[in-house]
Amino acid sequence: MSFAKKSPWVLYFGGAGCNGCGAEVMAAFNGDYGLEKDGFKLTNNPKHADILLLTGGVNNQNRDVIKQLYEQMVEPKAVLAVGDCACDGGLFKDGDNIVGGMEKVVTVDHRIPGCAPDPESLVAGLKEVLEVFDEKATDGGEGEE
Ligand code: SF4
Repeated sequence: MSFAKKSPWVLYFGGAGCNGCGAEVMAAFNGDYGLEKDGFKLTNNPKHADILLLTGGVNNQNRDVIKQLYEQMVEPKAVLAVGDCACDGGLFKDGDNIVGGMEKVVTVDHRIPGCAPDPESLVAGLKEVLEVFDEKATDGGEGEE
């Protein structure tokens, strides 16, 4: 199945968490799920990225890094928060060093709750956030979740 109008480039950053969501992200891009077969490509270069995929939460060590990655991405761009930690801080939200979910530093366009969400949910969530990205690319405006 291919639902992408173009091959969207995805920049992945793992925030404060247990890395369980990161393992699911890798599973979604590899093996049986094969997001790359559907046109999604991982990139390490924010200037090439269309979608910022975030797991884990925001803490005092990573907040500036996340903000800088987001700001280096050119418009249009869309942000996907994967897992409870990225949505609202999750299991660690009461920790002294946790600021909260990713919306504390960037505009989140779509959220996938779960601890951790399974690869099927990730595939569906990327399809959803790609629609937001396509709307922004078409309208030149801000998409809504
Ligand atoms: S949401 Fe759960 S699995 Fe994902 S990083 Fe947080 S604690 Fe780990």
